[in-house]
Amino acid sequence: MTTPYIKIKNHINGVWVDESNGQYEPLRNPSTGAVIGEVPLSSPETSRAAVAAAAEAFPAWSATPLPKRMDYIFQMYRAMQDNLEPLAEAIAIDQAKHIAEARGEVGRVIEILQMACTIPALIQGETVQGIANNINGRLIKAPLGVFCGVAPFNFPALVFGWFIPFAIGTGNTFVYKPSTESPLFMQKMMQLMVDVGLPEGVVNIVHGDRETVEAWYDDDNVAGVCLVGSTPTAKAIAEGCGRGGKKTMLLGGAKNFLVAMEDAPMDLMIENILMSGYGSAGQRCLAVSNIAVVPEIYDEFVERLLEASKNISVGDAMDPDVFMGPVISANAKERIENYINIGVEGGATLALDGRNPDIADANKDGYFVGPTVFTDVTPCMQIAREEIFGPVLSVMKVGCIDGALRMIKNHDMGNGAVIFTQNAFYTEKFINEADVGMVGVNVGICAPHPYLPFGGIKGSLVGNNKVQGKDAIDFFTQNKVATVRVVDPRGNKPAEAKPADSSVRSCVAS
Ligand code: NAD
Repeated sequence: MTTPYIKIKNHINGVWVDESNGQYEPLRNPSTGAVIGEVPLSSPETSRAAVAAAAEAFPAWSATPLPKRMDYIFQMYRAMQDNLEPLAEAIAIDQAKHIAEARGEVGRVIEILQMACTIPALIQGETVQGIANNINGRLIKAPLGVFCGVAPFNFPALVFGWFIPFAIGTGNTFVYKPSTESPLFMQKMMQLMVDVGLPEGVVNIVHGDRETVEAWYDDDNVAGVCLVGSTPTAKAIAEGCGRGGKKTMLLGGAKNFLVAMEDAPMDLMIENILMSGYGSAGQRCLAVSNIAVVPEIYDEFVERLLEASKNISVGDAMDPDVFMGPVISANAKERIENYINIGVEGGATLALDGRNPDIADANKDGYFVGPTVFTDVTPCMQIAREEIFGPVLSVMKVGCIDGALRMIKNHDMGNGAVIFTQNAFYTEKFINEADVGMVGVNVGICAPHPYLPFGGIKGSLVGNNKVQGKDAIDFFTQNKVATVRVVDPRGNKPAEAKPADSSVRSCVAS
């Protein structure tokens, strides 16, 4: 599919605008390496102008009746349903996510919007009547003002869904910075929000990199910043926002374990590993990366995994017959190949080498790494400790479930972990003891449904706030408490109960 040259624009105060500083970065199709457009690197002034627009929109938006705000969310939900294909294509073009997976991502966001339509039930406060004579206490879940969000390249739609519907549904306004590597989804989604009549300034888009984000730290109009990205970026934003006194919700990187027990359903497990480890070319925060296998099935498992991995077809993300597309950029390809070298130098066995996969001529300049499998990996090796974020699996032997749980506990990251077993004891033990934020049993990707919170622990989450579910409502609101004394305009004093006369009581008792 040939796409016309794409000039990405910012969207500020209801208007599509070019970046006034004139700085742009090339946008490439990772399947071919070809330049397909350009993305603005917005200046701090542009970034602050977007915040100012959101701040101006806040009073009227937060005063908009809740059913009316929900009507916009509902219309966004319908617009996404009606435009699933062009939205998925946008992701497939610039991020080179396989078109089937891109459709899946948009489908998940539609479910998130459905969940966001329940905000009126989730945002209800509390009342305590009669905390003193004629005094009542009331807790209100109030909006805070302007929130800003920063997205990673690998889930341009999902992260929109995690942030914007909940932020604006609860009465805040928003400034969103997509990744410069996958800006196209938000161009289309923002236009859909304009088309459903979302008032100007409620959602603003600024493209750019770290300078665009850093402009928010000392901006008094910004109430909070949320990020989904790597752990170093999460820490940098936490530091900046800490200085500026901003609320934060910062999801970081990952390194997820799969534990294969002796009774693991082998066919199901292999099928799930292929989806989880090689889907999106391994560029998922819940992708399986370290596989701990008990000795009873180790040899059979390695043989089956290698056989299946060799059959994975690699090629253009828009080709429906291909299983795995490219990685996002030349830099990412270089980083992943470097990790493959590190694995070899570190003493692991490179059982399947994904470097230089066989690719069609039209895609020779794309950024491809094929399925890669290391065996004989130990938990201390660099390839087992660090996030590679590519289609590289590290297989290690583990004696029993306790050993696997220890490996998970000793790892710096704590996003997700899954176990394959049919044993109820292993299942419950794993759910209770795996030291991660999200656990899966007999599933390759343990992504929680939108009604439940999504997020890790340890190095995978900076701070405490997770996305989705009730956690999203808590993050985008403050618990404002009102103490109200009601004064009777007729001057009457409240009735007071008389204490019992103890002398009477003791008289009766005697
Ligand atoms: P990244 O951290 O390089 O960039 C993420 C975003 O932050 C981009 O928009 C980028 O422009 C911006 N950014 C980069 N450096 C910054 C800085 N110093 N200050 C402010 N902003 C900065 O991540 P990426 O390569 O785009 O995405 C992949 C990473 O995201 C992986 O580590 C992956 O695990 C993680 N991720 C995590 C989850 C999760 O749920 N925990 C989900 C998706 C992706």
